[in-house]
Amino acid sequence: MMQNTHIFKIQRYSIHDGPGIRTSLFFQGCPLRCPWCHNPESQKMPGKIQTEEMDGLVLRLMAEIEKDRIFYDDSAGGATFSGGEPLSQPQLLFQLLEQCREKEIHTCVDTSGYADAKFISSLAEKADLILYDIKLMDARAHETLIGKPVFPVLDNLRLLSDRKARVCMRFPLIPGMTDTEANITGVISFLEKDTVFRKIHILPFHKAGEGKYAALNRENPMKEINPPSPERVAQVKAEFESRGFQVIIGG
Ligand code: SF4
Repeated sequence: MMQNTHIFKIQRYSIHDGPGIRTSLFFQGCPLRCPWCHNPESQKMPGKIQTEEMDGLVLRLMAEIEKDRIFYDDSAGGATFSGGEPLSQPQLLFQLLEQCREKEIHTCVDTSGYADAKFISSLAEKADLILYDIKLMDARAHETLIGKPVFPVLDNLRLLSDRKARVCMRFPLIPGMTDTEANITGVISFLEKDTVFRKIHILPFHKAGEGKYAALNRENPMKEINPPSPERVAQVKAEFESRGFQVIIGG
């Protein structure tokens, strides 16, 4: 399976990264440092792709995506661009989105929303569906835990709402971090007041990425933290539903 320094993984037959059966391309590079990250190997920024390399790379990646076209057609699936943060390599991402549109392959982009507003604007036009994470509302908590300010994430979500972009909201439920009453109330109020989005996926913390920290010789910041109980997940689901949200557990 093809891999390179700009796309760290290609996953076929994925059913958690958007509708139907999908091929997911994981982009290298992320400006954030979520302690619960399941792909810590994706965080380091890659070098810049040389202009003369770009066309060849896009062609090779499109060939990988097109291999499973029959599954997309049968399941209303397509290609998903995830990471890392796909918008950390905007030129590559937008070329792939354009190529997929030309070939009538449905696209999803899984973004943290921490990106330049002009790229978010282009995403609204070029992606068929945007998977958008909302994590922490409190500015200080966001900066302390994740390492960057929250305001671009919120401003960009307002922008997507104003543009009536197709967005699927995702809320990682992380005990003691995003899973606090104040944060959940804050997320609900923000979505109600500032956006049109009323459907949300709750992504309960799990320990699947644990072994990767050891492999990278990095301390796992979540090693003492357990996944939320099914009762707690059900409570949070009920809280969103009581405010009129449609809730799905998982990706
Ligand atoms: S935004 Fe995603 S890829 Fe980036 S650090 Fe957070 S969880 Fe990891």
